[in-house]
Amino acid sequence: MYSDLKNKVAVVTGGSKGIGQAIAKRFGEEHMSVVINYRSDKTGADEAVKLIEENGGHAVAVQADISEEDGATALLNAALNNFGTLDVWVNNAGMENRVATNEMPLSDWQRVLNINLTGVFLGSRAALDYFVKNDKKGNIINMSSVHEQIPWPGFAHYAASKGGVKLFNETIAMEYANRGVRVNAIGPGAINTPINAAKFADPQQMKDTLEMVPMKRIGDPEDVAAAAAWLASDQSSYVTGVTLFVDGGMTLYPSFQNGKG
Ligand code: NAD
Repeated sequence: MYSDLKNKVAVVTGGSKGIGQAIAKRFGEEHMSVVINYRSDKTGADEAVKLIEENGGHAVAVQADISEEDGATALLNAALNNFGTLDVWVNNAGMENRVATNEMPLSDWQRVLNINLTGVFLGSRAALDYFVKNDKKGNIINMSSVHEQIPWPGFAHYAASKGGVKLFNETIAMEYANRGVRVNAIGPGAINTPINAAKFADPQQMKDTLEMVPMKRIGDPEDVAAAAAWLASDQSSYVTGVTLFVDGGMTLYPSFQNGKG
């Protein structure tokens, strides 16, 4: 628990399931007030509201497509109208699909870039504009991936989007640092969420994935939520512009484990 987070107001995009829902729940445990964004899964968003309220926080679920300009505006307005301010904005929503690059329809490329990168820009722009106009030392957390660093054949659009998030994150961290606004990213590795459900249900794919994780376990959404809470809190007050990998060591060249090579 981080006492400075109590009563702070956060927006979490894509908060109806997976990592976003775990972050919303953790923010509830920190007694924060949370705008939970969902695109289509109202049931999951309502569940997140319930989890937050059971844990002592306040929450409201708001439908919005974060790849559209109106989406970020609607989420900012929901924070201001329901809770009076904005302190923390988490750009979590994201998606992926496997497709060989030579066969990738332009529509797949655009959809992944629009959600994973343009969505991060639009959310950050809304939050930064509020922080600047209200002279607020706000906090932005962008959900990146180990694939901001590790190439991923079959997912060129996804890797390009997360590589874009890395430099966008670093650039705006520098641009607003002297105002006391902090901007950081989280780079999850293999985390047990709906995005990976089919993959981890297949024993061979699970085995292959564990071979890429030096700690030999799949991460839980709560592992990522713990990093988000720390980055949102004053305990990380001198940290900006980083990507905090939450990956069981996946970015450490696991093929060299046990002295191989
Ligand atoms: P998930 O599929 O369980 O959840 C993604 C959420 O984003 C869903 O709630 C979905 O509705 C929402 N979303 C998608 N498009 C949206 C849009 N246009 N507007 C609003 N919401 C939208 O996925 P997850 O595993 O929880 O992933 C969350 C983030 O973490 C993503 O950015 C993903 O790239 C990243 N990540 C996940 C893993 C992993 O192993 N699960 C690893 C690295 C990075």
